[in-house]
Amino acid sequence: MPPPTSDATALDSLPSNLRVHVIGAGPVGLLLTALLQSVEGLSVCLYEKRREYTRTRMVQLAPYLVADSVESYRADAIDGDSVEAIFDSSELEQGLAFRQSIPPDLSALLRSWALGFCPLNSIERSISDLIDARGLNGVERTSAVVTAEEGMAMLKPGDVLIDATGSGSLLRDHLAPGSGEVADGANTLNVRLEYALVITFLYGQKYDCNEFCKYAKNRENPHYKFIPMVHRTHYDGSVSHVTGIVNISAREYEAMPSRFDGQWLRSNFPGVAQSMDRFIDKIKEETHGEILGDLEIVRIPLDLYRARSATSRQWLTAGPRDHPFASSPVFLAGDSAIGSPYFQSISLGFECAMFLAGLIAQRDLPLTEMLDRYELYIYKQWLRVYMRSKMIKHNKDLFESIDDPHALIDKLHIY
Ligand SMILES: Cc1cc2nc3c(=O)[nH]c(=O)nc-3n(C[C@H](O)[C@H](O)[C@H](O)COP(=O)(O)OP(=O)(O)OC[C@H]3O[C@@H](n4cnc5c(N)ncnc54)[C@H](O)[C@@H]3O)c2cc1C
Repeated sequence: MPPPTSDATALDSLPSNLRVHVIGAGPVGLLLTALLQSVEGLSVCLYEKRREYTRTRMVQLAPYLVADSVESYRADAIDGDSVEAIFDSSELEQGLAFRQSIPPDLSALLRSWALGFCPLNSIERSISDLIDARGLNGVERTSAVVTAEEGMAMLKPGDVLIDATGSGSLLRDHLAPGSGEVADGANTLNVRLEYALVITFLYGQKYDCNEFCKYAKNRENPHYKFIPMVHRTHYDGSVSHVTGIVNISAREYEAMPSRFDGQWLRSNFPGVAQSMDRFIDKIKEETHGEILGDLEIVRIPLDLYRARSATSRQWLTAGPRDHPFASSPVFLAGDSAIGSPYFQSISLGFECAMFLAGLIAQRDLPLTEMLDRYELYIYKQWLRVYMRSKMIKHNKDLFESIDDPHALIDKLHIY
């Protein structure tokens, strides 16, 4: 069921001289700011707590983000089917039309990031530099940690507040109306898919992985199969960057520190280490290279989540009138709204930013309609992410039992 629609709010539409506060200048907050920067009659206040962009992990944007036709938008066999089932053609056409209207300086960057891997901080720096190079036209940047109370206090009636603070969202749970203490998870639907070790290493030869390689190199690993992430091996001309995950139990997760290296793994969880060694030995047999340095390991719960409300719609329609959210629309964008460990989250966050910037630019749009449309859009994106993530998780579970027909059949639901 799509979320219900709203009926009446304290505000009818956004003021003509609009002030937008964007909290969080990660990739999504930056893209939103760059998109809003070219909208007439609007100023943006962008807040960021980090002084420098230091996240060097290699990421890639999904090709659908820069698609120029509905066919190319649906090119991914699995995601394309979900998209076709969830979105109307007119919605897809509108999304593509918005992409065509993105200023050339920004769209050139987006296209270049969809071609191959690049460090996350180079995406952040490029958009940040672009905003500055445009002469800060209408954008005021503040370096500060913003608290939820400060976020609320900065709002004048009619201001828009966008929370782009990532998965640990500053305001997500504050969007559930209520009085008193805000309960953790009050507005968050969380599906814990599994516990995993994310293992990264550098390898001194070209190494590319596909589904057959995952199978062949794990054949002697009945447990703790190492699964390089799809399209997450990256060769920079001399070194391959390999990232993958190993499924672990909740008890094992509890017994591990949050970060460690291969040596610690060998001493404390020899079963996992042997499985990794077997996988890596097979890479070496094939490509005659060596691991450079040690394994870098992080233990994480893999959570699929969404904000049940991605806007302050409930505050505006039914909350106490004296609360700041009752007179200022709030939107969640990027990881603060939806996240999945198996989905291209930056691309998803960028799409949400485009949709939201397109809504805010339509100054004559009634506020209720703006909120309803954003909620529905996020809900549809959630369905898309949920379907794909659950399918990947199911496939992973089957893969774990691939050499044990009884265990495999036990996990199948065929008809
Ligand atoms: C190991 C790993 C690999 C990944 N690989 C990929 C990939 O290949 N492709 C992909 O699409 N995605 C990938 N992701 C996910 C991707 O990094 C995130 O989806 C993306 O960074 C989300 O962007 P965001 O702007 O919504 O949030 P974030 O990147 O989390 O940015 C939030 C920003 O808000 C700031 N902030 C937070 N709180 C406050 C506050 N109170 N006051 C002021 N500022 C605040 C933070 O400092 C930060 O700059 C990966 C993630 C991980 C962990």
